[in-house]
Amino acid sequence: MTVLLVTGGAGFIGANFVLQAVADGVRVVTLDKLTYAGNVTTLAPLERHRDHVFVRGDIGDRALVAQLLAQHRPDAVVNFAAESHVDRSIDGPAAFVETNVVGTLGLLESCRDYWTALALQERRAFRFLHVSTDEVYGSLGDEGAFTEQTPYAPNSPYSASKAASDHLVRAFHHTYGLPVLTTNCSNNYGPYQFPEKLVPLVIQKALAGEPLPVYGDGLNVRDWLYVGDHCQAIRQVLKAGSVGETYNVGGNAERTNLDVVRTICALLDERQPLANGAARNKLITHVKDRPGHDRRYAIDAGKLRRELGWRPTHTFDSGMAFTVDWYLANQPWIQRVLDGSYRMERLGS
Ligand code: NAD
Repeated sequence: MTVLLVTGGAGFIGANFVLQAVADGVRVVTLDKLTYAGNVTTLAPLERHRDHVFVRGDIGDRALVAQLLAQHRPDAVVNFAAESHVDRSIDGPAAFVETNVVGTLGLLESCRDYWTALALQERRAFRFLHVSTDEVYGSLGDEGAFTEQTPYAPNSPYSASKAASDHLVRAFHHTYGLPVLTTNCSNNYGPYQFPEKLVPLVIQKALAGEPLPVYGDGLNVRDWLYVGDHCQAIRQVLKAGSVGETYNVGGNAERTNLDVVRTICALLDERQPLANGAARNKLITHVKDRPGHDRRYAIDAGKLRRELGWRPTHTFDSGMAFTVDWYLANQPWIQRVLDGSYRMERLGS
């Protein structure tokens, strides 16, 4: 049976990954610090599941990570743990360096110690998979897409810290031979996303009939991928990816922020019209832009498709409809998350 140590598994993508993997018969040890972005309630369906263990802790805690590796002897470590919100990185970059750079370094060193002591066959099979973002590549003009060869040019403290962690992962392969894999993915949306991010924030505000704040002219373009498809891509890379390689992951679904917001408005108008019958589009309000806001990201996921046969199952339209339905059906999850300190005060993407 495959055993995975999943870090950041109580966050948005990590939790989707853990739920999917355990459902498919994988044994998972989840390590998560439970910052504001981590929600252990997301993993409640796995409470007392024989194939899941939850441990609260920091990826940079070497003693704890060493103990977990020795005790559970995972076949792979999948590193989702990170500070992940660009707006927060502008307000306070230090936490991003602490977890994304220093924390990842600690995790790499713990994994190297564990891996070095394994028997030859286990050493050959072991993988360290680092989950990263397309934001490390910087911003694009109107044409073209990021490939795995695109030089790194991060523009925010968040993307700079992720770029630094990607470089450390690469260096641990080249210097020590640690069998690493890196994935760089575009914007995810789907169930269990913390409501500071664009999609769940807009769903909540639009449901309540509140103004929908959109940064600047709203024409910043992102590629959007349904989170379950990202999780499948990571599992495919774990299974069949070439050691030392990086793989771009994307949905081939470029949309402006305004397109995303309008799509959500239309889906909600169909499902739950406002009492006064007004179209929710009318709630869109342009607010002062985020400093240094990258204009366009687009990802070429051709390598993953060609070499590993991965394809997303959802289109943008089907994934967004599924996501809106999920939030409508899971309002208690949102309310539990909002019982914390966050009050949906800023709009991110
Ligand atoms: P998230 O903020 O929802 O979750 C991050 C999780 O990591 C939280 O549960 C948090 O408690 C945990 N964590 C933070 N610091 C930790 C530490 N020091 N030790 C242990 N756990 C810690 O983030 P997400 O959106 O699920 O993103 C997961 C990963 O995927 C990140 O590395 C992010 O850079 C990357 N990524 C995200 C997107 C996206 O669209 N959300 C796209 C591409 C890549």
